[in-house]
Amino acid sequence: MAFVAHDLGIDLGTSNTLVYVKGKGIVVSEPTIVVVESSNERRVRAVGDDAKIMLGRTTEGVMAVRPMREGVITDFDMTQILLQYFTRKAIGSSYLVKPRLFLTYPCSISGIERRAVMEAAKYSGGRKVFLVEKPFAAALGSGLPVFDPSGCMIVDIGGGTTDVSVISLGGVVISHSIRVGGIKMDEAIINFIKREFNILIGDRTAEEVKLDLGAALPIREERRARIRGRDMVTNLPQTTEITSTQIYQAIHEPCMAILSAIKWVLERTLPELAADVMHNGIYITGGGSLLYGMDQMIASELGIPVLLAKEPMDCAALGLGNIIENFDLLQHLGRTSFLKQG
Ligand code: ADP
Ligand code: MG
Repeated sequence: MAFVAHDLGIDLGTSNTLVYVKGKGIVVSEPTIVVVESSNERRVRAVGDDAKIMLGRTTEGVMAVRPMREGVITDFDMTQILLQYFTRKAIGSSYLVKPRLFLTYPCSISGIERRAVMEAAKYSGGRKVFLVEKPFAAALGSGLPVFDPSGCMIVDIGGGTTDVSVISLGGVVISHSIRVGGIKMDEAIINFIKREFNILIGDRTAEEVKLDLGAALPIREERRARIRGRDMVTNLPQTTEITSTQIYQAIHEPCMAILSAIKWVLERTLPELAADVMHNGIYITGGGSLLYGMDQMIASELGIPVLLAKEPMDCAALGLGNIIENFDLLQHLGRTSFLKQG
């Protein structure tokens, strides 16, 4: 039995949760989903990968819960269960002194919402809990010079939120978060297909269509795919063919909302820092940054180079890892002002 548990970094996202263990790296990367029995006790059936397979396929008496929405905890108990489950998966349960937990949170959430993250982490077995703003962790994990006196802009396009921040001298100088991300694109696809074809498709199908045909810019060579859903008139299963141009149109609005959020921050960034951003470029991370043409669309609209982070879906967890591995040094240098402690 270990005496003291290893420090843990948890990137608790609306879509995916990643766990970093000190000295080991990322050991868990699974969807933020819990499947429970819908009776009063809500007994847990599955968490993470196992739960995602059941999504949209649950039988009566069983339901799939996404305990986070738009970056905020909407189901406290389920979040706690999920954190407990992933913590156990990462480091087991045979230790005497509980782990220190480092978690990410979106910059725009309220004090109360942030406290909920803190409490859930404590209840799930954290001895001490530290919170780090998601874009800061993502910037650190992407290898950006966050402690230098030069501004860098990082845009994290996640499932539920897009966080835009300018970072300099070890802190977030300005940030803006909108409740638009990959899930809003999926919803836009569902609504489009409902409107145009009178067919209802599920969340998973919508996401698959987005990954397959989605683009932030019109694709030159049009691609097609067949999708299956339920006809809203006959209520029977139905298939139809859709094109990449249609999906581009369907997700145009959320893509423009992301662009506007970046503009909003640029317009309010101090001139010196804005000049740094013009020079260094904008870094994009998060699953949504992988959408075809997202980087090109932002670059051509703003006239600023856009760079896709090296490991876009892992960098926030890697940033937490960086903090954990160098915690003593950072404390010694007095470079921990980005940490919120509870
Ligand atoms: P969060 O940190 O908020 O949980 P992630 O950074 O894990 O979110 O990103 C998840 C989102 O990214 C999902 O909506 C998913 O559909 C989307 N995504 C993942 N890969 C791609 C891709 N190749 N193209 C477009 N969207 C993607
Ligand atoms: Mg993420």
